[in-house]
Amino acid sequence: MIDVPVLVVGGGPAGMSLSLLLDRFGIPSLLAERRASTTTHPKARGCHARTMEQFRVWGIEDRVRRAGLPQEPTWPAGARA
Ligand SMILES: Cc1cc2nc3c(=O)[nH]c(=O)nc-3n(C[C@H](O)[C@H](O)[C@H](O)COP(=O)(O)OP(=O)(O)OC[C@H]3O[C@@H](n4cnc5c(N)ncnc54)[C@H](O)[C@@H]3O)c2cc1C
Repeated sequence: MIDVPVLVVGGGPAGMSLSLLLDRFGIPSLLAERRASTTTHPKARGCHARTMEQFRVWGIEDRVRRAGLPQEPTWPAGARA
């Protein structure tokens, strides 16, 4: 049996952020995600500037940028965003 003070259910942005912050504050936790891997379907095209500031503070900004789409528009020419 695993004994942890916090159980985080769901490894989406909310759960992953909570898990990361709990770790930063030295609070043990266990994150349970029902899926075995990351989703194959995109769930965000962009992040708010404040979100990127948080990612930078947490030391994961570069990894988030590398995992994202190119900064240039990816929709077809003439299409509206
Ligand atoms: C097509 C699309 C485009 C989007 N574009 C943007 C964007 O550009 N910018 C933006 O900010 N947001 C965007 N969003 C919204 C953003 O993806 C959501 O706001 C965000 O994912 C919500 O995060 P969350 O952690 O609350 O939930 P989720 O991302 O839904 O994560 C919940 C997780 O919990 C897991 N789970 C659920 N039930 C259980 C269970 N019983 N046991 C274990 N695990 C469980 C799920 O598998 C999932 O991984 C977009 C969403 C979609 C679908």
